[in-house]
Order: sequence, then C-alpha cells, then structure tokens
Amino acid sequence: MEVKTVVVRGLDVLVAWDEAAQEHVYHHGADLALRGHLIVQAGGRYEGPCDETVDGRGLMAMPGLINMHSHPSSEPGNRGLLEELGSAKLGQSSLYEYMPVFRADISSAPYANQVAVSEMLKSGVTTYVDMSLPRPGWADTVAATGIRGILGPMFRSASWATRNGHSVEYTWDEAAGERAFEASLDVVKSALAHESGRLGAMLCPSQVDTCTPALLQAAQAEGRKLGIPLQVHAAQSVVEFQEMTRRHGRTPIEWLDDIGLLDEHLVLGHGIFLNDHPSLFWPQADDFALLARSGTGVAHCPTVFARRGISLNYLGRYQQAGIPVGIGTDTFPHNMLDEMRLASYLARVVARNFKASSTEGVLDAVTTTAARMLGRDDIGRLAPGFKADFSLIDLRHAYMRPAREPLRSLLYSAGDRAVRDVYVDGRQVVRNGEVLTIDVERALHEVEQAQLSTLSRVHLNDHAGRSAETLSPKVLRTLEAGA
Ligand SMILES: [Zn+2]
Repeated sequence: MEVKTVVVRGLDVLVAWDEAAQEHVYHHGADLALRGHLIVQAGGRYEGPCDETVDGRGLMAMPGLINMHSHPSSEPGNRGLLEELGSAKLGQSSLYEYMPVFRADISSAPYANQVAVSEMLKSGVTTYVDMSLPRPGWADTVAATGIRGILGPMFRSASWATRNGHSVEYTWDEAAGERAFEASLDVVKSALAHESGRLGAMLCPSQVDTCTPALLQAAQAEGRKLGIPLQVHAAQSVVEFQEMTRRHGRTPIEWLDDIGLLDEHLVLGHGIFLNDHPSLFWPQADDFALLARSGTGVAHCPTVFARRGISLNYLGRYQQAGIPVGIGTDTFPHNMLDEMRLASYLARVVARNFKASSTEGVLDAVTTTAARMLGRDDIGRLAPGFKADFSLIDLRHAYMRPAREPLRSLLYSAGDRAVRDVYVDGRQVVRNGEVLTIDVERALHEVEQAQLSTLSRVHLNDHAGRSAETLSPKVLRTLEAGA
C-alpha cells in the first residue's frame, strides 16, 4: 500500500507538544507533516518530499481529543426523553427507574453507534472509550467510522431494578456474570487484533455494586495479562454509596481498595460520591487520599450529572492532588467541546473559586492524561512518532474571532461549530464540518424509528405501568390540529 506524506503548511496556530517542557505549546506559521498513520514533523518548516499539501492559513491544528467514557450503542435514542428525569427518592439519579425503561432494542445499536461517533468526530474527538454490551459486528461498525475506538464490553454479576421508585433491588447470577466476562474477553481480543489497527480495548465490569469481588479481581488479572486498563462505574450515585456501606460498612472506594482493585490501571466511571462529597454525611473515611495514593483515575462526565444537580467535587482539586482525570460524554450529546466547557465551569461553581479549573488543565485531561489512563504513549500529542490524530479549527469562524487566544475562543465561544476538518490515523474523516465516513442521515432515521418503538413499550417495563408521556411529558402542552 502506498504511504502518502501530507503537509499542512503555514498553520496560523499549531498546538504541538514540547518534549523538553512536557507541555502543549503554540507555534505560529508552522507546518504539520504526516506520513501514513504517523506525524513526522510538528513545528517549523517541513522541507522533505510530500504528496499532498493543505493550506494551513486561517487554521489551528490541535491534538485529537480523547473521550474517556461513553455508551454510544444506546444513548442517542434517549434524546428528548431523559434530560429532565431523575428519581426524587433515589438520589435524583435516572439510573434505576428511568434508563432501563427507555433502553432501545439492541437492533438499533449500530445506528446509534454511528450517530454518537459522528457527533464525537465533529467535536474533534479522535479516540473514544465505547462501553457497550457485546454484539456481533460491533468492532467492524466502530472501525468503519474511521475513529479510534477503545471497546469496553460490559459485564456484571447482578442487575438492578426498582419496583416502587424508592428502593433498588439487586438480582444476582454469578455464573451469568462469569459467562458475560468470558464473552467480553472474546470481544477484547478481536478488537486488539482488528485489521483496522485502530481498535483498542478496556475491561469494563459494569458497576462496583453489581460485580462480585471475584469477578472484579479476575478482570484485573486479565487486564494485566493483556496490558489493558479497566473501567468500572463507581461512586456514581447516592444509592450506590448507601448500598455499599449497608452491605460492607465500607465506602465504594474503600471496598475497591480492600479487594485490591485500586491502582493506576483502573478508571472509575464518575468517582463523584467520595465520602467527603457535600451530598453525603460520612466523615470517618478518606476516599480522596485513597484515590490519590493509588493512582486510580476518574472519568468525569459533567453533563449527565449536572442535569440532576450533581457534580464532581471538583476537577481542579482532583487534578492538583495528582488524581488522573479524563473527561467523557457518557450520555448525549457526544459533543466533547461542550463537555469540556461544562467541566471547566462546574469546577468553578462547586469550588466557588474561579481558579478551580483552567483551560490548560481541561485540555490536558482530554489529551495527555487520557492517553496515560489508557496506557497509550502514541496519542494525545502532536509530535513526531505520534498517531496523526488531529483537528483543524477555523480561526476565521465568527465565534472564534477575535482569535487572540484560540483555545479559549474554541472552548468558551465557538465549540464544535469551528471544527472544520478532522483526521484520524492520518486519514481525513471530517471535511468542512461534515463526517465523510458515516451515512448520518440514515443512522438518525433508524434511531428515530427505534425510539418510537421503545416508547410504545415503556408502560410494559415501568414498575407502575406508566406511559412514556407520563414519565417524560413534553415541555409544552400540545394542541391538536383544529383545536
Ligand atoms: Zn456510564
């Protein structure tokens, strides 16, 4: 296969990695050169031979973003349904009473996946963690979108349900959990060996409160053997905190520490409800120190929690303590730049301190820190030898101007509107804001059909037999035609 050299010439701004200083820096009037999958030069003027030139004037090249936590196989179908739902008697979470009844049929998963990835690509994401239930064809669907996908097939020993909206019951089936774990290993191995070369894997025991210690430890052992990290939802709800303390007399974090899970290869999905979280009352523990000492990371997904009045306590505090924090879109939309902006603002609100987050800290979270959490030394930076994963931002977009400080303009004003082109593995996947690799219109149509079908079955799944319209009423009263 022919290997092409592409040079983006004379970029107004290039966000490149400064190896000596170990930080991202701005270059002006610089070139970015790629050969095949890799960057060969980031900065200065490229003098070597090249096959294709892109005019970099009016553009900023920045590293591709890493989305640390998402459920793209189902979440796009929840648009318009779940934004304002939470259980008043279950810690305001939507996990137990609402998400299960709105879950779309798995037949729509490939299309939901495409919709989600299209949104990610358009907001500059080039690598994402995909936490889904295994299904045939999953790896190929992800690979065909052109993105770099880290497949995280989920498995667990118990399921949860509420029969009354105020208590959660767990149904245990340890053998089923072990079978699901074995099935997840098949997915992991096929992802690692996928011909695209763009798939990675993570082991994802679903939740701290639904897995036996043996299952979590088995996952950790396999993760070590395969050299891949683990991610588990933990410290994600008040219900979970109370359940774990009721069962064990230990916080979720203490319990994970007790069974030897906490280390630098583990990522906690959310990691919000540590014992010192303002919404809890459990002073005699130090979850924060346990996290910091162990090197355990956190996937911070501000949007879905902000919708329910919940936030991490708080981004800058975790980062300053050395806790690795990545950022994820979790539910929907899959707009990473929106997520980064909210992460930044929420930290300041929670801390009541405008220094509780910084733009550079947020950028590091979704580039260098995220890469380290994934055990990757080849993504998250624009530097020679790194994967050619980057986006080109339109500095002439109205919302970017004045573009004196382009990252601030992007994060706080323009968002994904200014993301013009995106490249993954040296291949262009977004051009002028359009995704080249996905039939987005078709995928959206399928997701819409799947949502209609889900809505017709909601009353069968709800503990009180309520309809979709009762559970999630429309914002405005609807007048019928002629009324
Ligand atoms: Zn999640």
